[in-house]
Amino acid sequence: MVAGFTKEIIFQILGGRYRATYKPLNEAIISGRLRGLAGVVGCNNPKQTHDYFHTTLVKELIKNDVLVLQTGCSAIACAKQGLLIPEAAKEYAGKGLQEICEAVGIPPVLHMGSCVDNSRILTAASYIIEEGGLGQDLSDIPAAGCAPEWMSEKAITIGFYFVASGVYTVFGASPFSVLGSRNLTGYLTKDLEGIIGGKFDFCDDPLRMAQLMIEHIDKKRRALNLKPLMYQ
Ligand code: SF4
Repeated sequence: MVAGFTKEIIFQILGGRYRATYKPLNEAIISGRLRGLAGVVGCNNPKQTHDYFHTTLVKELIKNDVLVLQTGCSAIACAKQGLLIPEAAKEYAGKGLQEICEAVGIPPVLHMGSCVDNSRILTAASYIIEEGGLGQDLSDIPAAGCAPEWMSEKAITIGFYFVASGVYTVFGASPFSVLGSRNLTGYLTKDLEGIIGGKFDFCDDPLRMAQLMIEHIDKKRRALNLKPLMYQ
């Protein structure tokens, strides 16, 4: 695996040591070569087949030209499947993402640290906003988050700050203590979006998770009036 993609290193990989910038990433999304971004993070859950949700979801996302940012046990699951090396782009990624990975020599799945480093993903997202062309708020970016096999309270806490920052965030195993209430479920999965830009979703099928995230990314692309995807 290749790890260590901090938000600063991503600047330099994309722009070079003397002109560190997120511009190539923004332009790839704006031009339709890249569909968008996904943060896939979190635990392994003993109630689910080990690693299956992480690897199935991530393979489906990169196949659809979504660059995946990862942390924690989710990143390790994908590393074991060989997804965290540049060569993985040729085998698993869609043509647009393949072109980006080949041009800058990165894997289609970027390991950004341990599960307490999720804040790096949001900082990278705020640099994308600063670079320009993809909206004014984190909720404008064609991006989505997911914790497909979460099991710890910490994962829910992290999910809350992603949603509160404006990110559409899908959780794998449903927190049953929440879904018992129709009103609260509606608030978390629908109403919140109108208030803070982000919302939760709950789903227990990794391919359906990918579909939900891609639908959200496409919705954000339409809202920004971005060009059609080059290869899909
Ligand atoms: S809390 Fe972090 S280290 Fe613990 S299982 Fe979840 S992702 Fe892994």
